[in-house]
Amino acid sequence: MTDSILVVGGGVAGLHAALECANSGARAIVVERGPVVGGRLAATMLEPSAIGNRSEGVRTPLFEALVDNENVEIITLAELQGIEGRPGNFTATIREEARFVTDACTRCKNCHTVCPQVMPNEWDSGLTFRKAIYTPMSDTLPEPWAIDIESCLNTPPNYLPCQRCVEVCDDNAIFFNLPLETIHERQVGAVILAPGFKTESPDRFAAIGYGKHPDIVSSAELQRLLESPGPTGGFASKPSNEEYPESVLLVLDNPSKFALYIVASQVHQLIEQDVEKVAVLILAQPGDGAGTEEMKALADGAGIEVRWGALFEVEPTEENTLDVSFEDLSENRFTRQNYDLVVMCNDVEPPAGLAELAENAGVDMAESGYIALDGDGVGTTRPGVFVAGCASGAKNIRDSLAEAQSAAGSATAQLDPRLLEAGDGKALEKEAAAASPTAPPADMRQQIEQLLYALIDR
Ligand SMILES: Cc1cc2nc3c(=O)[nH]c(=O)nc-3n(C[C@H](O)[C@H](O)[C@H](O)COP(=O)(O)OP(=O)(O)OC[C@H]3O[C@@H](n4cnc5c(N)ncnc54)[C@H](O)[C@@H]3O)c2cc1C
Ligand code: SF4
Ligand code: SF4
Repeated sequence: MTDSILVVGGGVAGLHAALECANSGARAIVVERGPVVGGRLAATMLEPSAIGNRSEGVRTPLFEALVDNENVEIITLAELQGIEGRPGNFTATIREEARFVTDACTRCKNCHTVCPQVMPNEWDSGLTFRKAIYTPMSDTLPEPWAIDIESCLNTPPNYLPCQRCVEVCDDNAIFFNLPLETIHERQVGAVILAPGFKTESPDRFAAIGYGKHPDIVSSAELQRLLESPGPTGGFASKPSNEEYPESVLLVLDNPSKFALYIVASQVHQLIEQDVEKVAVLILAQPGDGAGTEEMKALADGAGIEVRWGALFEVEPTEENTLDVSFEDLSENRFTRQNYDLVVMCNDVEPPAGLAELAENAGVDMAESGYIALDGDGVGTTRPGVFVAGCASGAKNIRDSLAEAQSAAGSATAQLDPRLLEAGDGKALEKEAAAASPTAPPADMRQQIEQLLYALIDR
């Protein structure tokens, strides 16, 4: 008999599900593959300007509710190896990799200065650099830095004497003589899979200009620029010279429901930052997929230009702007327009290693490449194993949270109710309020929202 639930994936869905379980009186064990929790929204959960709250540096209630929560255990740099047993009584095997930095770390950054190994920071969409000893962002849960042992000059098991970080760590927080991995076994009554998604590589846009100029960015890169803990403090900027862009074009070649959601969200943020001209170019025939005449009419009303085009090319100019040429299918003519920043909207796809996770959890995959659902709810093909968030397909925050709540309800139903302590639910109420996607929008923002949400709901 156990009162525990295993949550795989520490993004917004997994963390929300864990807190739901904890507030129901269960214990939640969150297994996160990365060095910190938060997933795609790790930065915005700490400095939540992107989800409407401008109180910079204040931890949102979601993280507040997790810190020192006795009913939530977080294991980072860890993956699920297997689950045996049956609903109500599973044994889960978890493999945790060494962090090499202990809780004694005070985030003083001394080690960052001396580490010679430099690489792109994945958490900044590669727009900034990190070292082999690093923290993904300015504030994290858990707080200690971590060593990316694959990039470190000290190679296990025979560590070479780089040791520069050890020498400057006044807090004595770095140890290379730790076991490379630790295997944990946990008794759990149910499992929630919340491994999220990843953004696809923007390289497929290379043929139409991505990589040709720093001011041609992917939507994941733009997102990072728009998040306040990001490299520009949350302001749209031209990576080539850090100047403010007066005109931005978002190029969308796959107007899926989710891609449109992201475009809508980024258009909001650009308009909020008073970017003078924001336009969307859909690489499709007018009326194809989500690109409809209604969209054009509504967008015109909101002051946004929407075009349908083909044969698209982006050429840098001597004035450090970008000339965009395309066949305007809305008006059947070739056209050329000038922008300061061009955004290639890359879609999302299943996260790396999802098939392996599905195999270890004993669940089937769907043809989409995500986890298969058994019916309309959050159940998978294995009883007692549920999904939350983007595990079964891309979703926005609101839908991810709703699914997490449902998964937590189904998971706690597998436990013996006598083992559950009564939870007060207050932390969750606060968290749900903070995580609701946006603050009340301005008129223009509302119009754009209506337009794009209408298309999303098709
Ligand atoms: C560019 C962009 C902009 C967006 N803008 C908005 C917006 O404005 N509004 C909105 O509502 N939504 C937006 N979204 C969507 C939002 O990011 C998602 O709804 C949300 O992140 C989903 O949360 P999640 O927990 O399911 O996944 P994630 O945030 O991806 O978290 C999944 C976590 O699981 C971990 N993990 C993965 N595999 C494993 C494994 N095998 N074992 C252990 N851990 C694992 C990952 O490391 C990660 O920490 C945007 C998405 C993108 C890409
Ligand atoms: S020098 Fe030590 S205490 Fe300072 S950030 Fe690095 S690991 Fe942490
Ligand atoms: S031992 Fe590794 S992490 Fe430390 S400074 Fe050298 S390369 Fe960087």
